[in-house]
Amino acid sequence: MSSPLVQRLRPFTETIFAEMSALASRTGAINLGQGFPDTDGPAAMLDIARMSIATGVNQYPPGPGIPALRQAISASRAADHGQQFDPDTDVLVTTGATEAIAAAMLAFVEPGDEVIALEPFYDSYQACIAMAQGVLRPVRLRQAEPGGRFALDPAELAAAVGPRTKLLLINSPHNPTGTVLEAAELQAIATLAIERDLIVVTDEVYEHLTYSGAVHTPLGTLPGMAERTVTISSAGKSFNVTGWKIGWACGPAPLVAAVRAAKQFLTYVSGAPFQPAVAHALMHEQQWVANLRSELESRRDLLCAGLSRAGFVVTRPQGTYFVVADFRPLLAPGEQLDGTAFCWSLPDRCGVVAVPQQVFYADQSAGAHLIRFAFCKQVAVIDAAVANLSRPVEGSQA
Ligand code: PMP
Ligand code: GLN
Repeated sequence: MSSPLVQRLRPFTETIFAEMSALASRTGAINLGQGFPDTDGPAAMLDIARMSIATGVNQYPPGPGIPALRQAISASRAADHGQQFDPDTDVLVTTGATEAIAAAMLAFVEPGDEVIALEPFYDSYQACIAMAQGVLRPVRLRQAEPGGRFALDPAELAAAVGPRTKLLLINSPHNPTGTVLEAAELQAIATLAIERDLIVVTDEVYEHLTYSGAVHTPLGTLPGMAERTVTISSAGKSFNVTGWKIGWACGPAPLVAAVRAAKQFLTYVSGAPFQPAVAHALMHEQQWVANLRSELESRRDLLCAGLSRAGFVVTRPQGTYFVVADFRPLLAPGEQLDGTAFCWSLPDRCGVVAVPQQVFYADQSAGAHLIRFAFCKQVAVIDAAVANLSRPVEGSQA
């Protein structure tokens, strides 16, 4: 039987993360592909989740999320970024940032409306825009030279906006490039959004993971932006609980009500026993997050140094927990330039799994020379990966 899957979802049958994690477990290679930490979050937060289950916090929570979590989200956005959100009307708890993004696309995008996203983009964006029958308009982040920062060209962004543009979906700190958008880039986005009266949806799941003095500024804090911005984040990356899937969307009441309308028929609610635990973490675990950030910064340096020694041209990320590496210097003469093939061969070559960056592009030839490594792993794991990578990697027979 031919596939019963609707045409618009056919390009999205399997996520690259599942494929590459399966490759790692099949081959026993070290998995620096899918970005998930290999240590737990703050102990008190874990205790509260356990205690919640033990004391009967196991039924549907309120649709928008439990009040304690909405209050904690509002308080932490105010403390961290100076944003003001009324916990009763401006905050919605979702099943991870993934659901918040999906619900936002379903809420705001009419069939044929265009959504601008920074390319390369996190894989769910393309699928969610397709589910909403929208049209993705990628605006590429570009490197001035190999190993350089991936930067936004405001002229390219402005040129992408047309009569059907409905919203800008902006991710910073940016997966996979590690770019943290800087003041001029943010201002260019804001100016355009205001001029063209666009909704802006921001994906800030790596908001706390910035390094070497890079500062994350939420777009919603720029003048004129609060009233048009839905700010999305989640607990997964900040507290090492990617499997809990507790996220949130914050913004002015009419925008949040629209996202809630879609969200309530996707999952209705989620994660009852995790919600009080995340509320605790947001209120009381800032020091734990600060430690995580500095540990990740030294792991970034370890991995970047190891990849450089192994011959890759490395982009030092300003944020997230990913490093982009250009593998062209490692290709044997005549070997095909194809990041996907290179990643499939990497376990054989040196016992490590990475993710091909090209899958994050609409035009996959664009990122064919780049692969992505995750450094949210214990130092011993990164050390072992770096030692493996330092073995010769030219040619799969090596
Ligand atoms: N956005 C980006 C940029 C991500 O890297 C991820 C993946 N972790 C998500 C959203 C999804 O977040 P969550 O696990 O909270 O759904
Ligand atoms: N965000 C993680 C990454 O980019 C994984 C997300 C997922 O597996 N869907 O690696």
